Amino acid sequence: MPERKPQMVNCPQCSMAVAWEEANPFRPFCSERCRLIDLGQWASESYRIPSEKGEGTHNPESPEERGRGN
Ligand SMILES: [Zn+2]
Repeated sequence: MPERKPQMVNCPQCSMAVAWEEANPFRPFCSERCRLIDLGQWASESYRIPSEKGEGTHNPESPEERGRGN
């Protein structure tokens, strides 16, 4: 039975090489710490996007809109 080498991936957080295997519960991250950091960034980004979008649609005085009508 040939030995299977785990696939190597880069931790999305710190770019460290990580073995993608069952033994690593934090994959594709290298550690729980990197996983938590990344999850925190996702949470803050998804919170930021709707607020920016809402501001844009509710702001008819934006320079872009006025420039188009000129
Ligand atoms: Zn990492």
